[in-house]
Amino acid sequence: NSTYPKPSQTRVIAVANQKGGVGKTTSVVNISAALADAGAHVLVIDLDPQGNASTAFGIEHASGSDSVYDVLEGRKAIAEVKSTAVDFPSLDVVPSTIDLSGAELEIANLSKRTYLLKDALDAALADNNEHYDYVIIDCAPSLGLLVLNALCAAHEVMIPIQAEYYALEGLGQLLKTIGLVQSSLNKDLIVSTMMVTMFDKRTILSQEVYDEVQRHYPSILLKTTIPRSIKIAEAPSFNKAAISYDANGNGSVAYREAALEIAQRSEEVLRMIDAQKKGK
Ligand code: ADP
Ligand code: MG
Repeated sequence: NSTYPKPSQTRVIAVANQKGGVGKTTSVVNISAALADAGAHVLVIDLDPQGNASTAFGIEHASGSDSVYDVLEGRKAIAEVKSTAVDFPSLDVVPSTIDLSGAELEIANLSKRTYLLKDALDAALADNNEHYDYVIIDCAPSLGLLVLNALCAAHEVMIPIQAEYYALEGLGQLLKTIGLVQSSLNKDLIVSTMMVTMFDKRTILSQEVYDEVQRHYPSILLKTTIPRSIKIAEAPSFNKAAISYDANGNGSVAYREAALEIAQRSEEVLRMIDAQKKGK
């Protein structure tokens, strides 16, 4: 159990891509788990009504139970709804329930509608008894109001990219949305990280996707790729992160490697955020 370097300030990372099935939730779960396992204090915010990240950490999230929905609607603080992940004592989870699927309509007319998560998170991070090294937000596959809340609460975005034929299709739209957020709602936001998932080293296509992303975004693409792995796909049905369900498998090794890379880039990323704040 090695220890990774810890960031000098809390990193708040939204994991976003409006495409479904690209590995957002799987990456949130396993990277958070790997960071926690290596000594970091991590808060995962499940902002997808499907609640798959909550499931993977063994957190109850039946309709009606306390969740991020209550936080967004101002009924509860983050501290009141979070639970500790079953397998990871230094990892807290703000679960999501299916009730969240109605939230976008319910908050649509509030004047602070894009800052509901930010306000709740700022309050949680101001609590001196509870320091988090990382806050990692799992976004739903959309560019709706819930995702905007994540982009307003975060300092940085991580974009998982699936190694498949249309991998980069849709990326333009996502970056455009992030650009709009940067120009108005959250000027400090940066895209800090891209990561290629479901990489199949037997196919030329996987390497081509990696090379293409590398060509366009050389400074933010992780060297580590996440392999396509049956164990990674199986783990959630056992209410487990892959890194505990199949600790020594190639998927787990890759996620630990990616988490280490993310940890090692912390000061560089914090400098990028600082530069963005100062308008470069
Ligand atoms: P998203 O959150 O972007 O919708 P998920 O993380 O839920 O995507 O992944 C979509 C599906 O692909 C899930 O069934 C998941 O178990 C599976 N999956 C994700 N990553 C891998 C991988 N590296 N290898 C095999 N299956 C994967
Ligand atoms: Mg998901």
